[in-house]
Amino acid sequence: MNNQIPEIASPTRTRAIMESYGLTFKKSLGQNFLTDINILKNIVAAGQVSEDDDIIEIGPGIGALTEQLAKRAHKVMALEIDERLLPVLADTLSPYPNVEVVHQDILKADLQALIAQHFDGKHPIKIVANLPYYITTPIIMHLLESGVDFAAIVVMMQKEVADRLSANPGNKDYGSLSIAVQYQMDAQIAFIVPKTVFIPQPKVDSAIVVLQKRPVEKYHVNNYSHFQKLVKGCFAHRRKSLWNNLQALYGKQPEQKQLLQEVLAKLELAQSVRAETLSLEQFIALSEELEKYDII
Ligand code: SAM
Repeated sequence: MNNQIPEIASPTRTRAIMESYGLTFKKSLGQNFLTDINILKNIVAAGQVSEDDDIIEIGPGIGALTEQLAKRAHKVMALEIDERLLPVLADTLSPYPNVEVVHQDILKADLQALIAQHFDGKHPIKIVANLPYYITTPIIMHLLESGVDFAAIVVMMQKEVADRLSANPGNKDYGSLSIAVQYQMDAQIAFIVPKTVFIPQPKVDSAIVVLQKRPVEKYHVNNYSHFQKLVKGCFAHRRKSLWNNLQALYGKQPEQKQLLQEVLAKLELAQSVRAETLSLEQFIALSEELEKYDII
């Protein structure tokens, strides 16, 4: 389809499009546009995007990734905050009737409502995006807390954040973000992207992270908000022991200490152990044991 039209993703076309609309890149909106067609194709491949899929893209920019998604997906809904880009997108994406651009701040988006409005509910929904880096973590949390059953979330982000999302216990990058993500989905880095393929160039290299829905639920905790509080508290002071962080979280009164000691002993966790060595299963067990003692 549309083989005669040059792809949006090239340094020359990206500059030409921006110039013809008299636009500059807004650093405050994380506008680093991808200009390498092979990388865009690899992102779409990492998401195994097929004509059965409905795709939500966050931040289409001038449409470089949107175009590649539109060629393969059933439908693409692209959410863009920058009003200046709307006429550009109307133009660059005009050959693709299966794309809808919505002027929307992703962090304020009611995703369930947008999905009901723009998709027919008959197709798996995937997120595929080159994220604005200044809000990578809030976006991931917003997606995970949206209640939408995404088949996959395939997103480009700073490599250091990608390392945190996909880290395993014992790794220096393992923390509350790794746990929040991996509680719901399998996380893997698909490939690294050098900073040289963007205009303008960001300061750091990037990575594509693939979060995959599990066929069956792997982890379940009774009280998720207590689990979240526990995990955050245990990583509040990374250099301190789990024991110290637990006391800071739940109190240092002698009776409370006694109960906390009992819980740790029951789970065979040494007082000297650090949160970063605990597996997700161990955090779940700790959360549920604390609840039995009414420590929440
Ligand atoms: N998809 C394009 C690409 O790959 O070349 C642009 C990606 S650029 C890294 C991030 C895009 O997100 C920009 O178009 C920016 O305007 C948009 N953006 C920034 N903050 C946003 C927000 N809160 N909600 C929606 N889009 C946002």
